[in-house]
Amino acid sequence: MLLFLLLENQKFKQLCCYFPSPYIHYGVSDYLCNMDIKNKLILHIPHSSIEIPNFTGFLVDQKRINREIDLLTDWFTDDLFESKKDIPIKAGFSRVFCDVERFVNDNLEPMAKVGMGVLYETCDDRTHLRVVTPAEREQILLQYYHPHHKMLLDAVDRQLDKTGSAIIVDCHSFTQTPMKRDQCQLPDRPDFNIGTDMFHTPQKVVDAATEFFKQGGFTLGKDWPYQGTMVPLKYYQKDRRVTSIMLEVNRRLYLVEGKSAKSDRYDHVKTVIDQFLDLLRTLSLA
Ligand SMILES: [Zn+2]
Repeated sequence: MLLFLLLENQKFKQLCCYFPSPYIHYGVSDYLCNMDIKNKLILHIPHSSIEIPNFTGFLVDQKRINREIDLLTDWFTDDLFESKKDIPIKAGFSRVFCDVERFVNDNLEPMAKVGMGVLYETCDDRTHLRVVTPAEREQILLQYYHPHHKMLLDAVDRQLDKTGSAIIVDCHSFTQTPMKRDQCQLPDRPDFNIGTDMFHTPQKVVDAATEFFKQGGFTLGKDWPYQGTMVPLKYYQKDRRVTSIMLEVNRRLYLVEGKSAKSDRYDHVKTVIDQFLDLLRTLSLA
């Protein structure tokens, strides 16, 4: 079973997916085989999609579902982070449908206790969202969750085979104001946040990121407001050739306040992220 650690405040993560459609899970290996993967970053983009593949079991109307999508989606992170230089592994479905950053085992997933495990059954404000039967759960995990994670694992495997190392960048954004479910309700959230792992995030990467954002005049959280970064369980705390860092952008930097629309700062933020990824590529060559 594919496992990853994501505790809302401490994540150990695993893999994700690339397809624009959640229904297409064929040709993955061909896609990876045909890429020149040397010196590429693996960009894990789990929360950019607004797609709900099916509405079975949802208890609320479309308007309420849309409100939840609006709140939880890491808007435009597929575009903000993605570049032709790298290997994007993007979930093609909304986290409101299936959150690939949750433990599939509810016993290991603390958010499952509040109805927000791998398949959300409540909204952020604890409103009932949907009911998932055991059969539906199995089907969704089989069709969406596991293929997503296999994509990430395949990418890491191939990077290691081809180049002897793999760098995962876990790509997210976060709200200016904490969500109701967040354990940490501290205000004054930073512009950017890096999530790290003691084993898989080398100090030189942390130092470089710290200096980069300082030079750019941005405030930076380190594992705040969210902690950790995605690592496939196969390699978690076993193989230092797998480097991982999470980069999260405060949505106030690139969205119109109170909306899910790009602000006039969007292009600048995208450039900053691209420069940061360039820095990581350089470090990977060191
Ligand atoms: Zn996210």
